[in-house]
Amino acid sequence: MKKIVVLTSGGDAPGMNAAIRAVVRSAHYFDIKPFGSQLGYQGLVDRKLVPLYPESVANCIQHGGTILQAERCMPFYEKQTRDQCRQFLQQEGIDGLVVIGGNGSFRGAALLQQEGGPPVIGIPGTIDNDIPGTDYTIGFDTARNNALDAIDRIRDTASSHNRHFLVEVMGRHSGFLAVDVGIAGGAEVILIPEFEPSVEAIAMKLNSPKRPKMSSIIIVAESAQPGRSIHIAKELEQMTKLNFRVCILGHTQRGGAPTLIDRKIASQMGYMAVKGLLDGINSKMVAMNRDQLSFTPFPDIDMPGRILTQLDLLELNEVLCT
Ligand code: ADP
Repeated sequence: MKKIVVLTSGGDAPGMNAAIRAVVRSAHYFDIKPFGSQLGYQGLVDRKLVPLYPESVANCIQHGGTILQAERCMPFYEKQTRDQCRQFLQQEGIDGLVVIGGNGSFRGAALLQQEGGPPVIGIPGTIDNDIPGTDYTIGFDTARNNALDAIDRIRDTASSHNRHFLVEVMGRHSGFLAVDVGIAGGAEVILIPEFEPSVEAIAMKLNSPKRPKMSSIIIVAESAQPGRSIHIAKELEQMTKLNFRVCILGHTQRGGAPTLIDRKIASQMGYMAVKGLLDGINSKMVAMNRDQLSFTPFPDIDMPGRILTQLDLLELNEVLCT
């Protein structure tokens, strides 16, 4: 193992820099030359690799985003493009690839490897925490803390003015983020793609004469339709005759300094990815389950993202928010 490439792909997630730093510094420690592919797979398509040195990753662990930048690269869906990328990596003498990204990035990595590419190891990085096979993905903790900060601020004004708020958080297919911030932020209702009460049921709950509170916070996972909390607010207004304010947190959840948890897990995963390549591990991702790191196969190419199965967390919230 003489030369490896690291790239960040798909949506950025806070903590990716800590993972890049760990890959680069671990590679250096083991006498491997690390290179970066800028903008995810696009760097391979453009045949551009940037040599990385220990000092290239100085002062980045505390920053969100990714110093290698992350881009969605449409040409990489084509086998012909992947073949060209594979040939390029062979010409450059690349012995291993570390892909930091989400489900889509891992599909691309698994295909590249199956088609004859170099050994590849994935590091799960997405704020959605929705990669099958791992309980944790880098960026999730920062995103949920960012959202929680915002909810706490909204709560101050909601209770001062007896207002009802819908706060929309990220989460297209899974409600991990929404449930965690809902419980930690004391939300009255949580709507997630895996389970959604009817608007009528929410209206009845808010208008119930037994309810002592005059303000409320409803957490809405964006699901397939970002911005949908605006429509839900209108429906609720018609049914309850109450006024609703909407706050869509959007990309504010994704940026900012990564939390300690994200920096630490990303550092561990980056080191483990390099060690794994050295030990001959191939086509696996680093996973964290029950606080233990291990290697696990990439999810099947056609497998959907992981969804929340602990619906008892919603039950808990029902009990606590009364
Ligand atoms: P994420 O990794 O965050 O889930 P995407 O789904 O956008 O993000 O995937 C990131 C990139 O991974 C895509 O732009 C593409 O370059 C590559 N990719 C995703 N799915 C595939 C696939 N089925 N085949 C080949 N490449 C893929």
